[in-house]
Order: sequence, then structure tokens, then C-alpha cells
Amino acid sequence: MPSAAANSAAVNSSPTTISSSSLPEATTLGSVNDGHSFVNAFVQDNPYFQAGFGLMVVGVGLTALRHGITLGSTALRRRMLVTLEINNKDRSYEWFLTWMARQTAAQARAQKRWAPWARSHQLSVETTVEQRKNGSSSALFKLVAGPGTHYVQYKGAWMQVKRERETKSMNMMSGTPWETVTLMTLSRDRNLFSELLTEARDIAMRGQEGKLVIHTAWGTEWRPFGQPRQKRPLQSVVLGSGVSQTIENDLKAFLDRRQWYADRGIPYRRGYLLHGPPGSGKTSFIQALAGSFSYDICVLNLSERGLADDKLFHLLSNAPERSFVLIEDIDAAFNRRVQTSEDGYQSSVTFSGFLNALDGVASGEERIIFMTTNHPEKLDPALIRPGRVDLMQLIDDATPEQSQILFDRFYRETDTPNSLPASELQKLSKRLGDVVKHEAQLGRRISMAALQGLFIRNSAKDAIASCQNFFIDRQPELKHD
Ligand code: ADP
Repeated sequence: MPSAAANSAAVNSSPTTISSSSLPEATTLGSVNDGHSFVNAFVQDNPYFQAGFGLMVVGVGLTALRHGITLGSTALRRRMLVTLEINNKDRSYEWFLTWMARQTAAQARAQKRWAPWARSHQLSVETTVEQRKNGSSSALFKLVAGPGTHYVQYKGAWMQVKRERETKSMNMMSGTPWETVTLMTLSRDRNLFSELLTEARDIAMRGQEGKLVIHTAWGTEWRPFGQPRQKRPLQSVVLGSGVSQTIENDLKAFLDRRQWYADRGIPYRRGYLLHGPPGSGKTSFIQALAGSFSYDICVLNLSERGLADDKLFHLLSNAPERSFVLIEDIDAAFNRRVQTSEDGYQSSVTFSGFLNALDGVASGEERIIFMTTNHPEKLDPALIRPGRVDLMQLIDDATPEQSQILFDRFYRETDTPNSLPASELQKLSKRLGDVVKHEAQLGRRISMAALQGLFIRNSAKDAIASCQNFFIDRQPELKHD
């Protein structure tokens, strides 16, 4: 029995040993099975997990779909849509905005409703204020599409117009933000872009045809100021005998001698100084002259805030082609070599900086500068030396002949019902000439501007009867030519 017991013990012990040696495995196996069933139970039975997993799958699916759509739409867009970017450094930028303002306004009128972009509530206003010499001013508002997205129809095709403004950087010279307009339309309509831009350019050019364009400085750039004006006929500015011819001939000769200057390496520029009392027609003549030569005018105001020597140099060296640079009242600008504006503001333009800018870089570019002054005696000789001022011309108060020509223009050539018989007008005209002559002998003179004002407000008889009140004591200026 003991052996049996021992056997049995051995037998018993054996499995015990075996089982004890394989216990960890058995235990592990047992745990895996348990864990498996636990995971199974967790995955299959836990509604939270199932929901989360489901959500994850949906999320991944959606992300993939979104990527797919983005890629697909980009590819589709590339194939089907075409975009055109215009930024405000380009001349066509302004043309396009003006075109859009006109186009959509015309569409709106035709369809008796607001322009599509106007309904987008994103408009910008471009205001042009014109300050005249007599103190009056006028403002013109132009509503253009503002920053944002707009839609416009052109030749049956719809276009998306996105106007965007850069907020982080700006044009340091002009202080204006960079802007872009992006046009988008269907690829098949891509040719419409060039048609549209050509139309926009033509509209801009047509608006200027036969008109005088005035530019003003905008930072270091020249920009058209206000609407192009009607040209003034040169003969409508009545100057002393031969004065108009002298300046006109000089300018013609200069323009004909470009090659002559180039051959000799002489800078191709000409400076004119028109001097004389106020209201004698200096500015009007320069404008009429520009019009008759189909030139633009760039008005430079030396007392403008922010104008400094470097900007001035840049402006004078970069005036638009076929333009006169006009600097008015030059004596006020550089009184005692310090540049001061009416309100006492001293700009940072120095006299030497100005002379430097007048001399400019010796390039072949044509440059024509007109300066005016009421006080030539105040000017520094350095300013009026040849090369800076090549022709100095006195534009004076009315002579008897000038006043008679102006009188005739106002009363003889106008066929009003109340106009007097020709013989009567001739007598009045002669009388005016005698008065002007007589007053001049007494040192009293009348400006052409004063005569013009008198003729506008009065009948021929009244004008002659009251003209004596408008003469002022003024010595004639010495001629410099
Ligand atoms: P200025 O520049 O000499 O001060 P403006 O050219 O500004 O004179 O002239 C002021 C006004 O007087 C203008 O409306 C202009 O038509 C008129 N005027 C001045 N001079 C003349 C002139 N010589 N002939 C015709 N109009 C003149």
C-alpha cells in the first residue's frame, strides 16, 4: 500500500509536477482566452466603443472624401475655370474698376434694377475733389465695387470678380494698400478677358481723347486727377502781341530737335518761366498750349506735405510721356530758400534738392517744365539760369489791344438777342481801348481776369461804363525774354 500510495503519490506527483511546471503557460493561456473573451465582450457588447469606432470610421471616410472633393474640384476648376489677376501696380487695374462701374450701371439701367455688384453691399467710393484757383471746389463721386466678391455678366458669360486688399503691407511710396482683382470665368470664355480689358482701355482712352489730362503727384507716382477736361483753344487766351507765338515756336523747335540734342549728348529738356501779375493768363495759356500739342499736364505742388528731395527727384525724372510739368508760384515755394506753405508748414524739399531735381539725371528722356511766378524779382538767380529756365516770358496785364480782342470775343461774336449793332459795339470797343491806354499812363492797370469777370456779368454798355472801377495801381513789369 505504501508503494501504491507512493506510486499513486508519484503518479499524482507527476501530473502535479507537470502541471506545476506548465502552470504559467496554462495560466497564460487561460488569461489569453479570458482576455480574448473580454475584448470580444468589450468590442461586441460595449455600445460606447462601437459608437466611437463607428465615428472614427465615418471621420476617416469624410476626411478622405473631403480631400477627394478638394482635389477633384481643383482639377475640375483647372480644367473648367480660368482666372485672371490684375493688381493695382498695373494700369489696367483702374481701367477695369471704371469699366466695371460703367458696365454694371448700364446693365442695371437696362434691366431697371441695381447692378449685381451694387446689391452685394460692398462698394467703395472714389472721390475726386477739384480745388480751383478762385477758391471754389467741386467733388465727383464714383461708386466702384469694393473689396469682396462680386459677379458680373459680360457678353453672356458670368464672371466672378474678387477684389482683395493686402492689409499687412502697402506701397510705401504712395501709402496705398496693395490690391488685386481676380476675375474667374469658365475656360471656354477665356478670350473674353482680353476683349474685356481692351474695351476697358478703349473706354479710358476715349474719355481722354481730345481732352486735357491733369496729373498730380501721389507719393512718387503721377496719377490722373479728376476727369479729363475739355481742351481750351489757344486763341481763347489773349496775350500781348507775339507772346503766344514766341512760346509756341520755341516749343516746336525744341520738339523737332530731339536728335540734335541726342547727337551732342545734351539733356533733352526745356524750362519755361512765365511771369507777370495774377490773372494775366499764365496758367490758362500753359493749359491751352498743352492741349494744342496734345500733351498732359503734371501739376507739382512743392509745399505738399510728405514731399522730400528724393521723392521730388523721382517725380521729375518719371513724369508721364508727352506731358508738361507745371510748378506754380515758384517764388512762394522758395522764398528765402526755405520752402514754406501758406499755413507755415515747411516741407522737407530743400532749394538745393529742387535744383538737383530740375537738373535731373542726364537721360535722353524729354522733359518740359513750366514755372509761373508773380514776383520774378524774388527768384534766386541759381533757379533761372539757362538749362533750368531757357525761356522767360512776361505775361502782363491787359494792353488796349488785348482788352479790345477780349471785348470783341464776348460781345461781337455772340449772337444774343440783346446784342448791339456792330457799329455801336465797335465804338464801345474803341472806348475801352482808350480807357486802358489812358489809365496805363496814370500807372493804373487792369488784369485780363478782371476784364473777363466784368464782361461775364455785364452788358457791353455797362461793362464799359463801370470798367474804370477795376483798374488798380500797378507799375508795368520789365520784359525778360
Ligand atoms: P494767372 O495764371 O496769370 O494768374 P489764369 O490763367 O489763372 O491767370 O487766369 C484766371 C482767369 O482769367 C481764367 O479764367 C482765364 O480765362 C482768365 N484770363 C486771364 N488772362 C486771360 C487772357 N490773357 N485771355 C483770356 N482769358 C484770360
